[in-house]
Amino acid sequence: MKITGGCLCGAVRFESTELPVITRVCWCRLCQYLGAGSGTVNTCFKTENFTVHGVTSDYSNVADSGNVMHRLFCPSCGTPMFSSAEARPHLIFVRAGTLDDPEIAQPAMTIWTAQAPSWGCIASGLPRVERQPPPPASNP
Ligand SMILES: [Zn+2]
Ligand SMILES: [Zn+2]
Repeated sequence: MKITGGCLCGAVRFESTELPVITRVCWCRLCQYLGAGSGTVNTCFKTENFTVHGVTSDYSNVADSGNVMHRLFCPSCGTPMFSSAEARPHLIFVRAGTLDDPEIAQPAMTIWTAQAPSWGCIASGLPRVERQPPPPASNP
């Protein structure tokens, strides 16, 4: 098992030796910046089986939940790549557009729909959560 991906220019590559934990579409206000007006599609992997090659830039801030979040992007081409919460270092969220095979990212739910604009295209067949749902996995 090997899932691979990378940024637009190829300077940053990654691989996981395990299938993702879950994929969620996020319409929080911050994701609308990263998604060029749309939500983002985020595929969650366990960091213990996840390797990044290349150098990323890190924009960190404090989320509404109080968590310190890191959002990593390629400094050369600007592709948004990963996010992680300091409180949950065992998980990494991968922007699904960076997967070599985007079919791997099958969203299970849409979150933060309360912050989506009225014209936002939100999948009708998926469960919706208005704000932040519980963490997808709770490994130690
Ligand atoms: Zn790049
Ligand atoms: Zn978001």
